Amino acid sequence: MASDAQQHRSDRILKSLTSKGLHGCPVCSQGQFSVGPEHVLIATPEPTRAEGASVEGSAVVPVMCGNCGYTMLFSPGKLPE
Ligand SMILES: [Zn+2]
Repeated sequence: MASDAQQHRSDRILKSLTSKGLHGCPVCSQGQFSVGPEHVLIATPEPTRAEGASVEGSAVVPVMCGNCGYTMLFSPGKLPE
């Protein structure tokens, strides 16, 4: 169960994304999104390196559609605290 602080953060992020042009899910057109943990690390391969070389992690905030599961990834630096 989400705490009040987490719920408020989620509301701020979704409000910010809506103000930037997010209007419903691009896949199913439903509009119920949930915001995931603040920092999820994803592997971002260096394009100039050979396959199998080490990769770096990028911090992203996942926003998932509650209907179809489509997940968008946003840079934390562009979202409200
Ligand atoms: Zn969807």
